Amino acid sequence: MSDTIQSILDKEDFSHANLVTLLKAQGADKTKIFTHAAAIKKEFVGNKVYFRGLVELSNICSKNCFYCGIRAGNMKPERYMVSEEEVLDAARFALENGYGSMVLQSGERFDEKFVHIVSELLLKIKDLSDGKLGITLSMGEQKESTYREWFASGAHRYLIRIETSDRDLYYRIHPRDKKHNFDTRMDALRLLREIGYNVGSGVMIGLPFQTMEHLATDLLFFRKLDIDMVGMGPYIEHEDTPLYEYKDQLWPRKERFDVSLKMVALLRIMMKDINIAATTAMQAIDKQGREKALKVGANIIMPNLTPVKYHEDYLLYEDKPCLDEDASECRNCLEARIHMAGDEIGFGEWGDSKHFANRNLTHDTSK
Ligand code: SAM
Ligand code: SF4
Repeated sequence: MSDTIQSILDKEDFSHANLVTLLKAQGADKTKIFTHAAAIKKEFVGNKVYFRGLVELSNICSKNCFYCGIRAGNMKPERYMVSEEEVLDAARFALENGYGSMVLQSGERFDEKFVHIVSELLLKIKDLSDGKLGITLSMGEQKESTYREWFASGAHRYLIRIETSDRDLYYRIHPRDKKHNFDTRMDALRLLREIGYNVGSGVMIGLPFQTMEHLATDLLFFRKLDIDMVGMGPYIEHEDTPLYEYKDQLWPRKERFDVSLKMVALLRIMMKDINIAATTAMQAIDKQGREKALKVGANIIMPNLTPVKYHEDYLLYEDKPCLDEDASECRNCLEARIHMAGDEIGFGEWGDSKHFANRNLTHDTSK
């Protein structure tokens, strides 16, 4: 006979089989998982939610991930790069509104000009905020020297989603070529850690061909990697991408959302002091998706500070929410949502991963 949900939750550690059982839980069992995760969140990271003002810096991308609406092969989006002035305006907005941090995200580009633009932006954001704004980068895979240059210029967190930790599945959702290499992506996570970044990763949930077993492996992968931050959310189809041909084989969107919530809750139980984002893709499926994620363990929100005129050209997936909302509308809406979820906002704080601090403390004392 298999373990009951409660007896699994009482364990120190979950096996792969335990995680599959938990991911499949429904009804009262699912509520038990959510309640447990909420209590752990309260005890280990508290009820403060930290803002990371997001600038979608550029949709110019050299890669062709099969799921993404801004892949190089999609000719529909008008390609853009947010100007320096616009990024600095966003930084001023973040500062004036008490956001502790910013995230700069972009398609993958490796040319020197781009590397230099990002370095300059980092230095200028640090300068205008007198070092007060923390900066996360999400610029995909880069050369080691680039990671180092950006770290030296002021970025201290870096997000690279592994997308799926299963090598075979990875190659079903990416072209099999030099640019899309599972090992390079894994290496990036290791390198970033070595350099000193707070390292974040994540996966998409409900991909074609993905099973609960894959997702259980993803959770164990985050723990094995001792990751500091995780952003994960439902995969949502986009009609101008190759994966769209599998749209009829996907789990219904509601189910993708539901499993995403369970992933957040289980990860909070497994990795008590990391930062977990309530992602925008959650809200694309459920209007209250981000609040629901906060309630079951997430503690980070990324309000969009990208100027509205670029929103239509950064459509990673269908039904991306808040397309016509500017930074102030976004802020007001989010504040209300966070209070509804019973949390408060950590205004003006970086809100770095406690896990990162705790790991480094452990290393220091063992010297
Ligand atoms: N280019 C960088 C990279 O890939 O790491 C950063 C930007 S990329 C747009 C950020 C994330 O968007 C990806 O890691 C992927 O997980 C997510 N994404 C792309 N297409 C998606 C889709 N159709 N549904 C859900 N998430 C998607
Ligand atoms: Fe480019 Fe990132 Fe989209 Fe892949 S997921 S196509 S690397 S923007």
